[in-house]
Amino acid sequence: MGNSTFQEVVFTGPASSLAHVRKSLESAGIRCRSTKPKRAEGLVRVQREDGEPARTCIRNSPPQHGRVIEANEAAWLRCPKCEAALSLGVRTCAVCGEDVADPHGF
Ligand SMILES: [Zn+2]
Repeated sequence: MGNSTFQEVVFTGPASSLAHVRKSLESAGIRCRSTKPKRAEGLVRVQREDGEPARTCIRNSPPQHGRVIEANEAAWLRCPKCEAALSLGVRTCAVCGEDVADPHGF
């Protein structure tokens, strides 16, 4: 299974917090992927249907740093055309080439 099914961003934070969140989600039976932080913050993604259970799980066992990404905010991290997961601050969808410049950076 590729990363493309893990489209829902549920958390952003530093590497230490990503590990904590991944552990919490995995012990709750929720599969996830995390991006390796290039600078400071990384993202944790789950499958679309696991979005809300994952957010609840993270809130129940919050890591020291980072924050939950709410559904409305997560929607900005999907391409409006093809629904591919977008990286923070990208201007063009890597999959379909759609211009996603504004307001995806936050
Ligand atoms: Zn796209």
